[in-house]
Amino acid sequence: MKTLKNLIIIVVIFLALAAFFSLYQNNNKTVKEIGISDFVAKVRNGEVTQVTVKDSSLEFTTADNEKFTTKKETADSLAELLKNYDVPADKIKDLKVEVKTDSGLSGWLGILLPSLIPLLFIIGFFWLMARQVQGMNNRAMGFGQDTASAEDDKKNKKDKKPKTTFKDVAGAKEAKQELVEVVEFLSNPKKFTEVGAKIPRGVLLVGPAGTGKTLLAKAVSGEAGVPFFNVSGSEFVEMFVGVGASRVRSLFQKAKKNAPCIIFIDELDAIGRQRGAGLGGSHDEREQTLNQILVEMDGFETNAGVVILAATNRPDVLDSALLRPGRFDRRVVVDLPDMNDRVEILKVHAQNKPLNKDVDLHRVAERTPGFSGADLANLLNEAAILTAKRNKKKISLDEVLESIEKVMLGPERRSRVLNEKEKKITAYHEAGHALLAHKLPNADPVHKVSIISRGTAGGYTFKVPSEDKHMHTRSYFIDELSVLLAGHASEKTVFGEVTTGATSDLKRATNLARSLVTEFGMSEKLPPRTFGDREELIFLGREISEQRDYSEKTAQAIDKEVDNLIINAYAKSCDIIKTEKVMLDKIANALLEKETLEKEEFEAIVGKK
Ligand code: ADP
Ligand code: ZN
Repeated sequence: MKTLKNLIIIVVIFLALAAFFSLYQNNNKTVKEIGISDFVAKVRNGEVTQVTVKDSSLEFTTADNEKFTTKKETADSLAELLKNYDVPADKIKDLKVEVKTDSGLSGWLGILLPSLIPLLFIIGFFWLMARQVQGMNNRAMGFGQDTASAEDDKKNKKDKKPKTTFKDVAGAKEAKQELVEVVEFLSNPKKFTEVGAKIPRGVLLVGPAGTGKTLLAKAVSGEAGVPFFNVSGSEFVEMFVGVGASRVRSLFQKAKKNAPCIIFIDELDAIGRQRGAGLGGSHDEREQTLNQILVEMDGFETNAGVVILAATNRPDVLDSALLRPGRFDRRVVVDLPDMNDRVEILKVHAQNKPLNKDVDLHRVAERTPGFSGADLANLLNEAAILTAKRNKKKISLDEVLESIEKVMLGPERRSRVLNEKEKKITAYHEAGHALLAHKLPNADPVHKVSIISRGTAGGYTFKVPSEDKHMHTRSYFIDELSVLLAGHASEKTVFGEVTTGATSDLKRATNLARSLVTEFGMSEKLPPRTFGDREELIFLGREISEQRDYSEKTAQAIDKEVDNLIINAYAKSCDIIKTEKVMLDKIANALLEKETLEKEEFEAIVGKK
């Protein structure tokens, strides 16, 4: 794109110059060129007032202010020339003569320039192109990030700024225990090498996004007081072949110079995928980068004092070569925080925020199952922003609760005004979800129902499991399916037809039903196995390819099972909605009146679950 722009600019400049030159030459043509004998004749007649002599040409002006030029032999001087033509001496005397030596640089330029300019342009063009490519390379090769962090570290040492330590990482007890070893080694390697202990070279931090893997790596460097170099695997994806590898080389060189230190590779799976499994150009690059990492890891001594930490949430796709002994042979699992960890994390992030007394962090933790550390940090930040917006001095429970929903579902969109009819449909739709969630024994209880649109959803029913769940049962999923389909069922039962409001519910229900059959082995008709081998490919962006590892006949059986699950769940929804129509009306009317029902208000209508 940029090259094209440059090209256009160059062409425009070139055209402009060409126009200029042709004009210049036209100008020249207004000066008439005449023969030497005519010139002599004019001198003899006394018509010539002024002559300028350049090496081989004469320019002269006549009495009536006309300009002429003529050629002469270089060797002859003007006086000699006129004498040779027998011009009377007094006429020669009257002539005003100016001599310009043309033999200098300007003379040569005058001759060379016209042929040089196009050449210069071509050279300039190539130079620009080359520079651009180099610029890209430089950008790709630049260690902006890691030099910055290394410098930060030096500064930290000087300024005694607070470093990240294990105290900043709440929860994650097991992970910290494992990493304490690395800290000890980095701060006192002798202790280990003297007894012949081999030090881990690479530690793989495995866990979902936002669980604090980067934070842990920084804490290790902070605890040990060593520099921290970091790169992200995703940075390598768009590079030219070979650049990634050379970047890895200089990163390791720099690390060795600064040993003891930590190299942190974020998103290792972006480069460390199984080799030979990709497609397209980025694949070659990835392979070379990966190979270089392997070479570097094997290359340095165990006691060089460089420990490599890497983060990934997909250890299953990593190339097995990366996981061999002497490379990333240690795994530290960093999981989503449980209830107690969430309280701890909230405490860490609430430290510099003034909380009102009514904010009970335990209650906040209860309401946020499945939140990562990053989500929790984000949640408290949103609450603080909301508080500032409302010109309050302290964050109260209201703001925190509102922020939970914002983080989970996206911001409220009060601006989307529904007309009366739409409002009624949405009320019955959400009432359907809420009613089913209340009635079905295995479904999560309702925390809040609302017909205010949020993110992409028209309204929402907010359910929270009564406790942290690490596993789900089949009966939970079956009930969940009915709850998902209840919006559709309610619209259909009450209004006789459905709207587009149920679209995303249907999609989620279908995906859930399919997962039940193909992933969880929860179908009663099909054998307990998985169907289809899903693989994520990074090729022209992200896409999922599914490889079929079953026959056409099985495919039909799967479809049939998925249909059955949906049909049965839907029938259950319709059943309950019909038999509990009175309660449904009550919920819908309350929603129309108040727009949002909190848990207590909802339970006042339907009773306790
Ligand atoms: P990851 O690298 O696993 O994606 P990060 O380390 O980048 O996650 O975490 C992002 C942010 O979330 C951190 O900067 C921190 O503010 C917060 N965070 C995550 N986990 C924790 C935790 N256990 N304790 C405190 N803060 C956490
Ligand atoms: Zn719905």
